[in-house]
Amino acid sequence: MAALQPVRGTRDLIGEDQRRHQHVIETARRVAESYGFDPWTTPIFEDTRVFARTLGETSDVVTKEMYSFQDRGGDGITLRPEGTAGVCRALVSNGLTQSLPQKVFYAGPMFRYERPQKGRYRQFHQIGLELIGPAEPLADAEAIACGHAILAALGVAGQVVLELNTLGDAESRAAYRAALVAYFTAHEAALSADSRERLARNPLRILDSKDEGDRRIVADAPTIVPFLTTAAAEFYAGLKRALDAFGVPFVENPRIVRGLDYYGHTAFEFVTTALGAQGTVMGGGRYDGLIGEMGGPATPAVGWAAGVERLAMLLAEPPAAAVAIAVIPVDAATETAAIGVLQQLRAAGLRAEMAYRGNLKRRMERANRIGARAAIILGPDDLAAGVAQVKDLASGSQLAVALSALAAHFA
Ligand code: ATP
Ligand code: MG
Repeated sequence: MAALQPVRGTRDLIGEDQRRHQHVIETARRVAESYGFDPWTTPIFEDTRVFARTLGETSDVVTKEMYSFQDRGGDGITLRPEGTAGVCRALVSNGLTQSLPQKVFYAGPMFRYERPQKGRYRQFHQIGLELIGPAEPLADAEAIACGHAILAALGVAGQVVLELNTLGDAESRAAYRAALVAYFTAHEAALSADSRERLARNPLRILDSKDEGDRRIVADAPTIVPFLTTAAAEFYAGLKRALDAFGVPFVENPRIVRGLDYYGHTAFEFVTTALGAQGTVMGGGRYDGLIGEMGGPATPAVGWAAGVERLAMLLAEPPAAAVAIAVIPVDAATETAAIGVLQQLRAAGLRAEMAYRGNLKRRMERANRIGARAAIILGPDDLAAGVAQVKDLASGSQLAVALSALAAHFA
């Protein structure tokens, strides 16, 4: 039988890929914790309605990208395409809607049926934050500042630009929507088929089109600014003041609308030119209507998600794997003592390995092959004297170290 291949759009994380991936997630979790965000883990599959209702019936994700199926019991199930809907569902299911604010960090796999290419997969991973409860623009700024701090901790902040926009409140959006419909209707014949469909259902989404012809039309489309109500304009001004106070640089881009339908007020993306067409590494905004849609009380919230694969590609140097110390018994009689040494080193948090078989020469060869930094050689005479020979494999120098002091020697 031919060897089986991974499913199109999925990838294995091994070696350096895995180290990059893990470094992104662990760095993000640590920084998010310093901003007061607690990690939540929600299921990878949910009732299809969790997404169908909340992502907007017209979003690309719902119309084209979801992995949905009926399970053996006949229930409609969807592999989660994003994290926010599940976190909001969990907030409601766990009775936390009266315990606000909730500051949530998550990390994990997401699934979208997309055309695979560099930086775009069918199983990919996101890290994300949700700040649920506060209606103040200070919360939006804090969520963005935490995202920026994560990018800085990863050493990639210099490669990305924060693009900021406002989608206003419902009243602003209704007025803007009418102006957009008038403008795009006048150019309807030149729009792509997708955008002609959006014109009827969700004209704001045309601003986000990746089609070249659409982009030329979008370039001259009206912006939301003249349609903002006083309250919406004040919210946006407050956000920009708070970002300045947090020390987070941004540029304003009136074309940022976000792919999902549930956003209002703040919309933002961190973008880079270093990844070709897949330039958005982190995106988010305010979604005050979502938790109500989920059957909870109307609850303001803001959040973002970032693609782990795209961040991993931006990392300059992948973090190195811990270098091992090889423990080498010279004969079968010293193997028991060697296991004791192995466990002493591991208990001290050191990476220690011992081969399962082989004479001294073979085991030394293996120590070099795995790139060990040192070999601890255990012979009968040394053991009787309570010491072991520690050989530095880079310099070749060797010295006797007391058995009880081995872990301390490498600390
Ligand atoms: P794009 O415009 O690239 O399709 P999106 O608007 O669909 O992105 P979001 O739903 O906001 O993306 O997801 C947040 C982040 O998750 C993106 O900025 C990106 O870094 C990452 N992401 C989204 N889809 C994929 C995918 N199919 N493969 C890898 N990463 C992805
Ligand atoms: Mg997308």
